[in-house]
Amino acid sequence: MRMNLFWFRRDLRTEDNSGLFHALNQNKPVQCVFLFDTEILSALENKTDARVTFLYDTLRALDKELQAWGGFLDVRYGSPVTVWQQLLDEYQPEAVYSNRDYEPYARKRDASVGQLCQEKGIEFIQYKDHVIFETTDVVKSDGSPYTVFTPYKRRWLEKLQVEGGMSDVQGPLRAFPSQGKIKEGALNQHQQRSLEWPSLNDMGFNRSNMSIPPKEVSQAIIAMYDKNRNFPSVDGTSKLGIHFRFGTISIRDKARKAMLLNETFLSELVWRDFYSMILWHFPHVASRSFRPEYDEIAWRNNEMEFTAWCQGMTGYPIVDAGMRELLATGYMHNRVRMIVASFLTKHLLIDWRWGEAWFAAHLLDFDLSSNNGGWQWAAGCGTDAAPYFRVFSPDAQTEKFDKDNKYIRKWIPEFGISSYPRPIVDHKMARERCLLVFKEGLEKGRG
Ligand code: FAD
Repeated sequence: MRMNLFWFRRDLRTEDNSGLFHALNQNKPVQCVFLFDTEILSALENKTDARVTFLYDTLRALDKELQAWGGFLDVRYGSPVTVWQQLLDEYQPEAVYSNRDYEPYARKRDASVGQLCQEKGIEFIQYKDHVIFETTDVVKSDGSPYTVFTPYKRRWLEKLQVEGGMSDVQGPLRAFPSQGKIKEGALNQHQQRSLEWPSLNDMGFNRSNMSIPPKEVSQAIIAMYDKNRNFPSVDGTSKLGIHFRFGTISIRDKARKAMLLNETFLSELVWRDFYSMILWHFPHVASRSFRPEYDEIAWRNNEMEFTAWCQGMTGYPIVDAGMRELLATGYMHNRVRMIVASFLTKHLLIDWRWGEAWFAAHLLDFDLSSNNGGWQWAAGCGTDAAPYFRVFSPDAQTEKFDKDNKYIRKWIPEFGISSYPRPIVDHKMARERCLLVFKEGLEKGRG
């Protein structure tokens, strides 16, 4: 009997995995595969990248789990089309299953692999798993995409109710019992592992010892989320970002819990769908402003100032605390992400893409659509953006969200003593300069 292949990507779990479930439900043995994509890995500058170690360890655990049920994970290393040519020749599958990925690179990659399959008469089948509502699921009545969050969210919630919410087994939050199918013996059990896995070193990486937030989060954190989420010194958010990114948890499972425990937390998951949908409809945002007129802003792009920002040495304590937290842990609190992004783009007039790239390299939970959405929001050039004349004051933000300087002291041991740098720029001057430069840029952009 011919088998089916399941290609793991951003969905690295056996439980409640929609594409995996459908693959396992065809009464044909399923072989699971993963490929370390040289095109993605070669773009990572840090060869001790914690995300690569996390990915590697997660795959090892997945393999062990599959082995316990008689299968294994076939892991390859190379460029996707070349590897897929080998896989299709070796396994001669009837179909290849996977879950959809909405990023521009992934869409291109999947189109090429899909084409390859088609040429060989093999079906290439994809499912929704990474988000609750994708692409055109939630659109305006005329079929066009929403570009403002609040009406999008309203429609998102309505659709959830209409389609059965969490009560209906067919609804958007249904669980897919993929693990159950594995336990029933649906994996390919007849073929032995043929190739050794590449090691981290083989792929040019070293092991990182940065710790990864757990994928379990206490109910108390979620229940109190709306009250605590804005205070960076409080352990008040889930830190699940990296798990959503790699699919080591199910978005449907977390959304079901959020519906019961905290509406504000659910709303954050809607933001995630929103930005994913925006990137899909407007792929130009990956390299340009959502609002084209913002591409005319005359950024100063001072490299020394950028370095000071990256290293947490701007002399603005809340900004520096955030940037140091990022370097030390791969994480930064959302409130502080907004403050540092505003500071870079407005106080220092540095192109938002520079900051976006720094975050992309350092955030454990880096996700192109949410990162891009967050940066464009902060710079004022995105969907739903704060108007450019609203410039965050780092001091006022500190007064509101870190009044006792608890967060600041945690990350800046020299806070308040002479070795701490003097402010890189005067707030009042920077604010006025920003208003002028943005106004001029926008006038030029609007012709
Ligand atoms: P929680 O507050 O516990 O929220 C739960 C989950 O909801 C998050 O893990 C995330 O998946 C989602 N979420 C929360 N807030 C947002 C949001 N505003 N937009 C989209 N999804 C959200 N989020 C990323 O996942 N990856 C990024 O690369 C990223 N870059 C950002 C850059 C900037 C400049 C800004 C302002 C925000 C960025 N965010 C990003 C959104 C947000 O800051 C993080 O999702 C959140 O801080 C992660 O911490 P947490 O897991 O504790 O989130």
